[in-house]
Amino acid sequence: MLVKIALAPAWDGHYTLPMRKLRLLLVIAWFIPSAQLPAGQNNELLQVHFVDVGQGDAIWIQGPAGECTDNGLNIIIDGGPHTGKSNRLITYLETYKFVKDSLVDCAIVTHPHDDHYPGMADVLQNYRVKTIVDSGFPDVGVKFQKFLTLVKAEKVGNVKSTFVELRKQPKFQFADCGDLHMSILFSDTDQTGLGSGNSRTNNASTVVRIEYKKFVFLFMGDLEGKDRKDPADKLSLGEKALLSKAPAEKLRATVLKVGHHGSETSSTLSLIRAVQPEVVVIQSGRKAFSGTFLPDQGVLDRYKKELPGSVIVRTDEGDEAQGLDTTNDADGDDIAILTDGDSLRVRQARISGGKRRWVTVKTIQK
Ligand SMILES: [Zn+2]
Repeated sequence: MLVKIALAPAWDGHYTLPMRKLRLLLVIAWFIPSAQLPAGQNNELLQVHFVDVGQGDAIWIQGPAGECTDNGLNIIIDGGPHTGKSNRLITYLETYKFVKDSLVDCAIVTHPHDDHYPGMADVLQNYRVKTIVDSGFPDVGVKFQKFLTLVKAEKVGNVKSTFVELRKQPKFQFADCGDLHMSILFSDTDQTGLGSGNSRTNNASTVVRIEYKKFVFLFMGDLEGKDRKDPADKLSLGEKALLSKAPAEKLRATVLKVGHHGSETSSTLSLIRAVQPEVVVIQSGRKAFSGTFLPDQGVLDRYKKELPGSVIVRTDEGDEAQGLDTTNDADGDDIAILTDGDSLRVRQARISGGKRRWVTVKTIQK
């Protein structure tokens, strides 16, 4: 109970406990077994967690303590496909003693597809979310409309949460938080040339950029760059719109969460060359699409050829070899990227012999 208070900030993000009590609580927190965590309870770092939810995206970002709030910002980008007990995003957060009613500063739903938003309903129900950002893409079904009802009912205390529909507020941006700068590089508009059907919905994805001191992270949602059959040097759809809109210096990033789970329809050569990531993160699972699985081999080959010094990390790590399918592919291949702004560590939870342990995949010093 004491630890619960220590790790859950008050609604305004500031501790209300006397310092002596707070110190005691922090000492207690220090002794919590942290072997299953990638960096213990270290909230001096910017931590970006790509949670293995199988085929889908779920990303938890915890800002360093002192940047905007005493205890660090909490941001969630997408909630994955599963709800209830199957929602690994929630169980992952619980591992961090992220208890019920904790404060989430911002929840972003990149686009209204089933592998991105359903798990966010649990986030709204379990935590107090201050701001919810949605693409505002108008062509959505009944299920997503139902989800939006939940979004519109969200409150923090007696205060109604802020709901941002980017279509209606295209100039919306986040306030800077000290050294932490978060911005939206691309959001849905009614412009033409963004595909049709499922592809159109993917190209409604909100693209988020986070800069912390010497490092930049880019989160692409499911933004696409070409038709599947087109060559990699063709550029169209959302990637074309992004590249023509965002300044080149804003596109360069150390860490890229690739678009559309590493599908052949994304990661065109133009995009890869504009971003030049040193860490390529792919969130994917064992769901078959017309007999093939994501990521596509052609995309992996493109990153390896264009950026031989980069590392590719995947949330479906080893899933194929283990014979996993959609019922059990959310098995814990989580990725955590930790930085103090000068150095950056890429860690992944690896499972072998029934045991799960965190290994450092790459360290970058700037
Ligand atoms: Zn997706």
